[in-house]
Amino acid sequence: MRLSQYYVPTLREDPAEAEVISHKLLLRAGMIRKLTSGMYSFLPHGFRSLNKISNIVRREMDRAGCQEVLLPLVQPADLWRETGRWDLYGRELLRMKDRHQRDYCLGPTHEEVITDLVRDEIRSYRQLPVNLYQIQTKFRDEIRPRFGLMRCREFIMKDGYSFDRDEKENEESYRIMQQAYESLFSGLGLSFRAVEADTGPIGGSQSHEFMVLADTGEDSLVVCSGCGYAANLEKAEVPSPQSGNTEAECPQPELVQTPGMHTVADVAAYLDVPRNRILKTLLYKSDGSSVAAIVPGDRELNETKLANLLGAAELEMADAEAVQNWSGAEVGYSGPLGLAVDRVLADHSLLEGTDWICGANQTDAHYRHIHLDRDAAVELYADLATVGEEDVCPKCRTAISFQKGIEVGHVFKLGTKYSSAMNATYLDAEGRERHILMGCYGIGVTRLLAAAIEQNHDENGPFFPPSIAPFEVELLNLGPQEEELSATAESLRSAVL
Ligand code: ATP
Ligand code: MG
Repeated sequence: MRLSQYYVPTLREDPAEAEVISHKLLLRAGMIRKLTSGMYSFLPHGFRSLNKISNIVRREMDRAGCQEVLLPLVQPADLWRETGRWDLYGRELLRMKDRHQRDYCLGPTHEEVITDLVRDEIRSYRQLPVNLYQIQTKFRDEIRPRFGLMRCREFIMKDGYSFDRDEKENEESYRIMQQAYESLFSGLGLSFRAVEADTGPIGGSQSHEFMVLADTGEDSLVVCSGCGYAANLEKAEVPSPQSGNTEAECPQPELVQTPGMHTVADVAAYLDVPRNRILKTLLYKSDGSSVAAIVPGDRELNETKLANLLGAAELEMADAEAVQNWSGAEVGYSGPLGLAVDRVLADHSLLEGTDWICGANQTDAHYRHIHLDRDAAVELYADLATVGEEDVCPKCRTAISFQKGIEVGHVFKLGTKYSSAMNATYLDAEGRERHILMGCYGIGVTRLLAAAIEQNHDENGPFFPPSIAPFEVELLNLGPQEEELSATAESLRSAVL
């Protein structure tokens, strides 16, 4: 390619819309252009790198024994109804109708389609195990597309699916893919870490994310230097308290006036108590029911943990009107005594200690001297809080630290979640019908390009590892007037075409 003919529209200035360095540099280097929110066109320069990344991913998958397929992007709703995800997936799923008014969606992932493919073909244990993957466009109507290629609505993913005969084989497939990912990301020269992860709307029993370490990452990682425990903050456990409920004396509840004190910080200052003596009662709408979740005043509620515990597809904070209806008070005065909600859950750290302060379900009032077991109807104590700096490792109880990461890959052990919903079975050696066990394995191919730039750039722009650089060699003819030099340059150029 001659630079003079190359379509590479570079920009001198940082575009105003770009917040992170990869987004700025991808635009400035003429690699991508925005079409509309969360949707980008790849220009020749960007497409060359993207193709190189796809090919490296392809090679690694093939080496791990996987076989490439290509599945349709548009998927019939009926398959999604079989697994229940048509209702459960939420608004990231872009739904549409065809001319016959039949429902379809743009594939955000392909578990249903691949399970449908396999259930029609696989009959016998002799056809298993098998691992199929594709590198293809996905569409997710993300609530907040941002950071260029990091969080788009349309993006390219490698998604792979393993089909196994039993738990042992399922475990082995998962391990092989974890290893393939380790080798892939190391081969790309990226500094990364595998962490325990939440399974989200994909589901399954076990999952790990592969995180490229970068300060601009959207994910927070909790890491223990003692035993190597590492988890996404969404998933990271807070260890349960070591003793149980203390039998300390707790006087009877006493109503105290707290005029205008809406927040934990306000109440703590007004009553001159530490924030951790106050119960923070948060109200949610969860698939049509009302839920109160209580955490200590110095802790944050982890909504992923709460949604998982409830098995909720949609979890949303109650608005002021719902708070008023359920508690009889303004926002800021909810508490577990006499609250009109369907379920009351509390963080397990509250099993330790009594004599709390909480909202009185009356505007401008709180209660002192609350003993949760005596005074409130807590249905369940569970791990509900987000890990904080002061917490220790849930496995070995040594100190933990935090890192930022960009999720570039995600592996899930699915078991029979999809095969039982969609009746994908095989006949074992004894002729018994059994559900196929599955795993699924994603890599954000477009996001990898952004992550590589986040880790490899300086004030002059990105410096890609040669394996993914758009070009490996730039040939300069320093004497264009000299015939011999020009002829040599030209012959070198055509030799590498
Ligand atoms: P996230 O937590 O970032 O939304 P996810 O858990 O929804 O990711 P998966 O369903 O596991 O993602 O998808 C597999 C991979 O696809 C992710 O590891 C990520 O690299 C990539 N990916 C997911 N969503 C996007 C997106 N909106 N834009 C670009 N890449 C994405
Ligand atoms: Mg997502």
